[in-house]
Amino acid sequence: MTGMEATELMSHQSFSIKKMYHRMRGEFPKVPWKRLTCNNYAVPRWSFIINLAIQGKLHTKDKVAGWGKAIDQKCKLCNEENETIPHLFFECGMSKEILGRLLKWQGFQRSVLKWDEEIEWTVQEINGKKVIAEVYKMTLAGYVYYIWLERNTTLFQDKKKTVDGIFRVIVQDVFYRGNKKSKVANKLKELDSYPQAVKVEDR
Ligand SMILES: [Zn+2]
Repeated sequence: MTGMEATELMSHQSFSIKKMYHRMRGEFPKVPWKRLTCNNYAVPRWSFIINLAIQGKLHTKDKVAGWGKAIDQKCKLCNEENETIPHLFFECGMSKEILGRLLKWQGFQRSVLKWDEEIEWTVQEINGKKVIAEVYKMTLAGYVYYIWLERNTTLFQDKKKTVDGIFRVIVQDVFYRGNKKSKVANKLKELDSYPQAVKVEDR
C-alpha cells in the first residue's frame, strides 16, 4: 500500500468512525450536549448519569429487551407506558410533575417539553450566559440522577418515594451543592429553599 493510499484509508476510516459515532449517538445530533455536562456545578455522579442518559447509554428496559431478554417493559414509576429514556425523564407522569415543580420553583413559566426539546432549551439557556441557567443545568442533572435512583429503588427494592419527597431532596441537594460555589450561591439566595407553595396545578 502506498503512503497516499494509507492516508486516504486513514482519513476515510476516521470519517466513518466519526459518522458512526454520530449515528450511535443518534437521538441528539444537532445539540451540543457536552455543554450540559462540562463545567457543570453538579455533583460528579449527577453529571455521570445525565451524560449516559443523553448518549442513550442508560440501561432502560427497552435496551435490555433489545438484547433479547424477555422482560416486563413497563415503566415502574407509572406502570402505564414502556420504559425508555425519553419516557422515564420527560413523559412519565411522576417525573413530569417533579420537573414541572423544579421549573416553577426557579421561575421558568413553561410546561415540560419532550426529551430532545428539553435538552435543546437548556443548552440555549446556558448560551445566554445567565447564572440562573447554570443553576438550572445543575438542577436538571440532579433531577435526572434522582429519577434514575427512584427508578432503581422502585424496580429492585420495591420502595417508592412520593413526588413531594423527590422534589424536596433535589431542592435540598441543589442548595447544598450550589452554596459551595460562589457564582451560583448568590443566585440561590433569590430562590426559596423550602418551596412549600410550588404546585404544578398552579402553573
Ligand atoms: Zn412512566
